[in-house]
Amino acid sequence: MNRRRFLYTAMSSAAMFAGAPRVFGAAAKYDLLIKGGRVIDPSLRLDAVYDVGISDGRIAAVEANITAESVQTVDARGKIVTPGLLDIHTHCARLGEGPAMVLQDGVTGWIDAGSQGADHIADTIAVAKTSPQQGRVLINVGRAGVVSDGDTMDINRADVGALRDAIARNRDFIVGIKARLSRDVAGTNDYEVLRRAQEVATAFNLPVMIHMGQTLSPLPRLLTLLKPGDIVTHMFAPPPNSIVDETGHILPEVMSARRRGVWFDVGNGQTGHMRWDTIESIMKTGFWPDTFSTDWTNNSRTTGVIDLPNCMSKLLSLGMPVPVAIACATVNASRTFEIFRDRGTLNVGAPADVALLELRSGNFEFLDNYGNKRGGNQRFFPSGTVLGGKWIPRA
Ligand SMILES: [Zn+2]
Repeated sequence: MNRRRFLYTAMSSAAMFAGAPRVFGAAAKYDLLIKGGRVIDPSLRLDAVYDVGISDGRIAAVEANITAESVQTVDARGKIVTPGLLDIHTHCARLGEGPAMVLQDGVTGWIDAGSQGADHIADTIAVAKTSPQQGRVLINVGRAGVVSDGDTMDINRADVGALRDAIARNRDFIVGIKARLSRDVAGTNDYEVLRRAQEVATAFNLPVMIHMGQTLSPLPRLLTLLKPGDIVTHMFAPPPNSIVDETGHILPEVMSARRRGVWFDVGNGQTGHMRWDTIESIMKTGFWPDTFSTDWTNNSRTTGVIDLPNCMSKLLSLGMPVPVAIACATVNASRTFEIFRDRGTLNVGAPADVALLELRSGNFEFLDNYGNKRGGNQRFFPSGTVLGGKWIPRA
């Protein structure tokens, strides 16, 4: 790995939570105790068999053999215990039950990446408002949202005024702008669409997430418009306009975008975003993802996405160590959007969002977006979630 985006936050988090009130129940010390799991928390550089004690919705202790009483105990022996997973590119605000479905997968925070634009942004915000876990939306620069004839094929749909008004009305729930730039979405407008997205994003100090791959404009030209904190999703998209050239080298403009603080995200999805040969050549260069994401929709279960833990498993057989895969879906993702800043960690005092995963060994098949299968001998399976200190068993 040529660069580490592990951002160890022990100091800042300790300061952040130092003033939090701590009231223990009279009888039991903990509300919930997760016993005997392999705790992997890259934010704390932790990988050991530990117990996790939870009190008042917050992490109260991460130690070996906690013996104090707890109202409820979960047996995590044989399981991996990680901070709750954060999925920064989903479409789970397209349906009301989406958030509850991904919560079952260990996802304790999600971003809906551009399902709707200015015209119908209220629909996705309504889902975010009733979501059990933290959920926020990116507004599509195209005012009609994702549409089959191309979100911004008609450049008038990239309506700066409508975009600005929608954001101004919904500052609490719109946390960025999504610009989908493929040729079948934006056509020859890709650069102008991104320029308009950036004009509005900069005014509100928001990040832009671009959907790269199969664009008409060369990727380096589009990257010139990205600022620190912006996100490139679908980083494994095959040519034309992939992040890697025919000789297997990462484009210099891609390297420099990462150096100036642009994030590179997986965005598994269903069509055009992942092909094993491109993934292999990118992984070989050491230019690894900052974050995993599913690009989840309600048919993800049957399209090779399945769930975030399955997407995280896809790179294990290409040399990504288990703790690095977990870092991508926890601490790294917590750095991308402000609302996740106190998440992605099991630091004492942090909100008690936890994912239990089972890492099974065997022969597993993983799909890209082109019907190609690739074998692997390890796969994460979701095995239970804790949200705000409350145990949610896998149904
Ligand atoms: Zn998407």
